[in-house]
Order: sequence, then C-alpha cells, then structure tokens
Amino acid sequence: MTENQVLKILFIDDMPEDLELAKRIISRCKIPFESYMAQNEDEFLKGLYEFKPDIIFSDHLLPEFDGMRALKISLTYNNTIPFIILTGAMNEEIAVDAMKAGATDYILKEHISRLPFVIKEAIRKKKILLENKQGRKSLELTSEILEHYPFSIISTDMEGIIINWNKGAEKIFGYTSREALGQHISLIYSDSDLENLNSDIIKPLLEKGDHQEQVRLKRKNGELFISSLSLRIIKDKNGQACGMAGYTLDITKTVKAEEELFIRNQAIESSVDGIVLLDLEGRITYTNKAALEIWGYGTKDDVIGKCAEDLFYTDYERTEILEILKDQGFKSERKARRKDGSMVSVWLSTTIIKDIAGKPIAYMGSFMDITERKKAEEELEESEERLRLAMKVSEHGFWAWDLQNDKFYFNLSLLGYNEKKFPMGLDTLSSLMHPQDRNNIMPEIIRSAKESKPFNYEIRMLSSSGEWKWVLAKGNTFDAKVGTRRTIGTLVDITDRKITEEQMFLARLAAEEANRCKNELLANMNHELRTPLNSVIGYSDVLIEQNMGELNDEQKKYLQIVNDAGHTLLELINRVLDLAIMESNGMELRFSAFDPVKSIEEVIKSTKMMTLKKNIMISVNIHQNVVEITADADKFKEILYNLIENAVKFTPSRGTITIDAEIKDEHIVVSVEDNGIGIAENDKEKIFNSFVQVDSSNTRRFGGAGLGLALVRECLKLQSGNIQLESDLGKGSKFTFRIPVYPKGRGTDIY
Ligand code: ADP
Repeated sequence: MTENQVLKILFIDDMPEDLELAKRIISRCKIPFESYMAQNEDEFLKGLYEFKPDIIFSDHLLPEFDGMRALKISLTYNNTIPFIILTGAMNEEIAVDAMKAGATDYILKEHISRLPFVIKEAIRKKKILLENKQGRKSLELTSEILEHYPFSIISTDMEGIIINWNKGAEKIFGYTSREALGQHISLIYSDSDLENLNSDIIKPLLEKGDHQEQVRLKRKNGELFISSLSLRIIKDKNGQACGMAGYTLDITKTVKAEEELFIRNQAIESSVDGIVLLDLEGRITYTNKAALEIWGYGTKDDVIGKCAEDLFYTDYERTEILEILKDQGFKSERKARRKDGSMVSVWLSTTIIKDIAGKPIAYMGSFMDITERKKAEEELEESEERLRLAMKVSEHGFWAWDLQNDKFYFNLSLLGYNEKKFPMGLDTLSSLMHPQDRNNIMPEIIRSAKESKPFNYEIRMLSSSGEWKWVLAKGNTFDAKVGTRRTIGTLVDITDRKITEEQMFLARLAAEEANRCKNELLANMNHELRTPLNSVIGYSDVLIEQNMGELNDEQKKYLQIVNDAGHTLLELINRVLDLAIMESNGMELRFSAFDPVKSIEEVIKSTKMMTLKKNIMISVNIHQNVVEITADADKFKEILYNLIENAVKFTPSRGTITIDAEIKDEHIVVSVEDNGIGIAENDKEKIFNSFVQVDSSNTRRFGGAGLGLALVRECLKLQSGNIQLESDLGKGSKFTFRIPVYPKGRGTDIY
C-alpha cells in the first residue's frame, strides 16, 4: 500500500451505528478508505478473500461470531494484516490474551477518537512487518537450503553460544538443534583440542574476518573426526561483529583415503619389483624406483612416455603388443633393455586396470630382475645334468624334487624305464612303488623332505619287465642358492643283496635249527651212550684184574685195548655232551673261590705222563699278584688241561711249553705257549669250531676229535671270558685266556 492508495478497512461488528461513527472519525483524518462490514464468520471470510482488507477492526464479542476466532483466521490467512480489537467493554485480561494471540492493538469504543492514530500506527507496523517478511522469506529460503546441506552450518554469538544449528549439523554431530542451541561451541571440540581453540581458530578469525582450517571435532557419541572448517564473522547493520558462522564438512573418509593412497604409493615405490603403468597406447605413465634401477635410468622423466618396446626386447609389433596387453595380460620371462643397451632377464607380468565401470583405463606391468636366479638355475641345471649322467653311468636312479615349485624329475633307467616316456611327478614315482611301501614309506619320505631331514629306505619298485626290485632310496633336502628348496635322492638296486641276505637268513635259521636238533639228540643220547660203555669199561676192568680167573698175556693185552678204547670213547662222549649242553645253554657253572696256582699245579701234574713220554719241558711263571679268584674251578682246570694237552700233542719231542699266569684288569690271564708246529693264519679262527682239525690226518697221528678248543671257548664264554691265539706256522703257538676274577652277571650259585 502506498500513500495514495485507498485503505481497505474490514469491520467485524454487529452495530452499524458504531461503524458509522468510526467511518466519520477516519474520514476526518483525511485517510482515503473503503470499508467492509462482517457480522459473522462467513461474511468475514468473504471479506478476507474478496475485499482483501489492509486492516481489520473487530469487536470482541458478537452474537454470531467472536473476535478471537476472527483473529486466528486472519493470522492464518495473512499474518501481516493489522488486526485491532475494537470493543465496548474489555477487561485487561482479555486484552492481554488478544495481544498474545497476535492482535496488533486494541481500542475501547469510548476512545474511538484515537482510531486514526491507531490506524497509522498499525500501517507503520505493517510496513515494517512486510519488509521483514520479505527479508525473512529469502532468509527462509536460504535456511531451507542450508538446513539440508550435507554439511553443518553453525553460528554463534560473539561469546560462542550456538544460535544456529542446521540439519547437517544434527547429522554430523548427532545433537538435535534443541540440544545444541544455547550451548557453547566447545560442545563440538574434544577436551584436548579446547586449549588451542582460541589461538588456532578464534584469534585468526577475529583478525582476518574469516578462517579456514582442518580440525578435529567431536560427535555426541564421543567419536572424533577430521573436518574442514570454514568460519566467518557476522556483522550487524552498523558493521559491528555480532557473531560467528561456519560450516564444517566431515572429511575423515577423504583424509583416510588420502592416507591410504599415500601408503599404497609408498609401498609401490619401495617395492623391489619394478612397477610401471602404461596408458592404453602402451606408453609409460608411471614408474617406480625399482623399475628405474632395473633399467638403469636416473629419473622417472627419462622413462615416462617411452613405449614398452623401448624398454623390453621383443619381436612383437606395437599393435601385437597392445593386443597381448588387452587380451589376457601377460606373464613370461623377458629381456629388459637397459639404458646402456645391456640386457637384464626379468620375469614380467601385466594386468589390465579398469575403472569402476569396468572400462580398461591402463595396464600395469610388474617385473623383477632374475639374472642371478637364472645364473644359479643354469648352474644347477648343469650340475643336475652332470649328476644325471653320473647316475646313468653308475646305473643308479636319481630324482630331484623342487619343493617350492613342486617340480619333479627322476631317472629310473635302473628299473629299465626310459625317462622320456613318463610324466615327471611324485605320483609317477609312487605309482611304481609296491602298494605296501607306497602306503607306509612314501608318506615318511615326503615328511622327511618337508622337514629337510635325510632319509634312507628300502623299497620295492616295479621294473619295466614287471618284476619287483628292491631299491635303496636315499635322500636329503637342501636349500639351493637360488632360494629353491629341493630334495635330491638316489635309487640303488639292492635286489641281489636282499636275495643273498634272505638266503643267508634262511640258511642261518636252518643251521641253527640243525644245531639245536643235534644238541637235543646228543643230550638225549647221554644215557643211551654211557650205559653200554660203562658195561664195556666196568667188565673189562673186572676181567683185567683177573677176579674172574687167570688170563694169558695175549688175553690181557686185548682186554687192555678194549678197556683203553672204552675210556677214549667215554671221554669223547663226555666232551661231545658237554659241548652240546653248553651250546644249548644248559650247562650250569659252579662258582667258588679257589687258588688258581693250585689248580695250575694240579693240571700240570695230570699231564706229567704225556710230557714225560715226549720229553717235553714245562716251565711255569706265575706272577705274584695271582691270588684267590672266584670262578668255576673245574672249568678252569678243564680249559688249562685242554690247552696243555694240545700243546703237548702238537709239539715235537724235547719241545718246551711255557705257562704264564697273572692278574690284569680284574682278570686272571693264563697263557700256554709251545714251540710246536704252529697254526696257519687261515686256520686260527676255524680251530675253535667243533670237530675241526687243521689236518685230519692228525686225528690218526695225534688223536682227538676237534672238540677241545670248541669246549674251551664255550667254557670261557659262559664265564664272560675269552681266548686269543698268537701263532707262527712251524714256530709255535700261544693260547691266552682270560677269566674275570669275580663272576660277571651270568653265574647263579656264587657263594
Ligand atoms: P683236537 O681234539 O683235534 O685237538 P682241538 O679243538 O683241541 O681238537 O684242536 C683243534 C685243532 O687245532 C687241532 O686238531 C690242531 O690242528 C689245532 N691245534 C690245537 N692246538 C694246537 C697247538 N698248540 N699247536 C698246533 N695246532 C693246534
């Protein structure tokens, strides 16, 4: 409404006289106006919509309507229309209620002369209101936009008290505007950051009028996040700072992504593999340090822009290279071209890099220098080849297992296979094994290989001719220089050895069995042999003593022969039986303490007849350390007797026998030395076996059955003793036996 415009006044009243009066008063004041009168709600609404009043005067109470209700309708319709209560009678309370409800003013009918003043005042207020409303409208619009921005907009007064808190702030910080408004801005700072709030943010803001910074802020749930903060000082009409406004944006994700990117970049940069990025044309757009080093270039700029074929030796055309890259990526050993033109062996692989939509945007190549590895591998291959040849010559099998790459090589020519006909693999090797060995031994071999332990197994393998062969599989695992661990193994055909072993085993079993049978037989024969012999000896004794009558010389002579033969036979039987009993561990020893010197003397005495007959001299040297010992005294004498008997037997007349005895290392050591016929080197071991004689003609010459020494050795064995023989053929023999001075272990009845 402008000055010249007609003022449209709507009256709500039921008293036309009052209306007339009002009109007159208004006219007097030269205010051009039109009026409309409503007495009820319908008329009022019609007036509002059609008449479009600039100002409304309403009575407080009407018969059909009421001023407060009209006020409500009016405000809802347009809250800028001044609404003045004009009433005849109104108490203060109602007036206050009306004002509170939004009435612009009130006037009593008795003061109706004030009407023009009230109108003017109302129009002035309306003007301000309108201006404000326009301002507010644009503000509302802005607020509306700002409310829903994905970042927070917060403003505070100069004290830092929050006076504005948008939806974004609610979302980001988790406080509703109701919770945040009126609080201090420190609400969104962590305690530890608060001390820097003034120096880092407020001070520069006040100095410059605005301020931007990345800060750490705190959500309602205590979570801290990185935010970009943009602040500005708000000024009033007079240019005075009246508050601070700012927006924040949660950039935690961005910061994290940047960090991640940084780390990835670092990782790529520090990788020992060369890594390059190529555009779709195959031109290098990025290279890491390792790639530069492999190529021998100084800076990245030297390489960026170059093509794949500038940096790798290749027979492919450019278009072919691109096809390969595009197709499936690439993985193979290549030669990189160094800046100085030299070559480096590399293991190269490429991959296609795609954008989120799956469209290829670049290629990545990664490659590592394998020169050293190649060299070592070549060396290894060379030595393997040598080994292979050596194995071929030696007719041994050979196998190598590269555990890292699970590569397997073997040569099984020892089994008659041509290596080229076989798929190389652990499976092939195990398929040729005997099922039992495959199940029991193969897992052990694999385990040993994995644990780098040496192994040694005898296995059965199928030869090309279909026979099972015994094979000695030996191997160990080594860490080769190149970093590959491999198990190297040899296979040796031991079939013959196994067969011999088996035969020997069987033969031993058979021999043992036969010996056992013999001993058993002899033991059983004990009674059967002795009984008739006792009769022969006993009755011939009786006859010789002539108790049964006189005998002539011839008869006497023959009977004596029968008697001697009987005795000889008895002795033989006794020895055979003793030996049989001892060998079957049936002989029990009778330990007792005795003086060995006395025993030696007794034995010498009992051989007197023999020595005298052959005119042999016996010399005895007994060391003074020989004292009482605990052993089987009878056996001791038997051993000594046998040795002296042999010495006499195999020493020519007028020979010498020397007997030495001493105690040494808790053993009594006795030797019987003669200067007789001696024993050949070859026979030294044999003569201790039963029924062995060096010269069987001796039996006839010297008598005996080859049992004496066997008996001696068994006797000594039983007492933990032993016997040694030194002899020179033709010069003499020296038998030395040892018996512990105290029984060791085996004896039963010691005391
Ligand atoms: P034999 O009853 O035949 O003497 P032995 O077992 O006592 O049986 O001796 C076996 C063989 O050892 C003798 O036949 C003899 O060939 C040889 N032998 C034993 N003692 C001597 C020795 N002192 N000098 C030479 N040969 C001996």
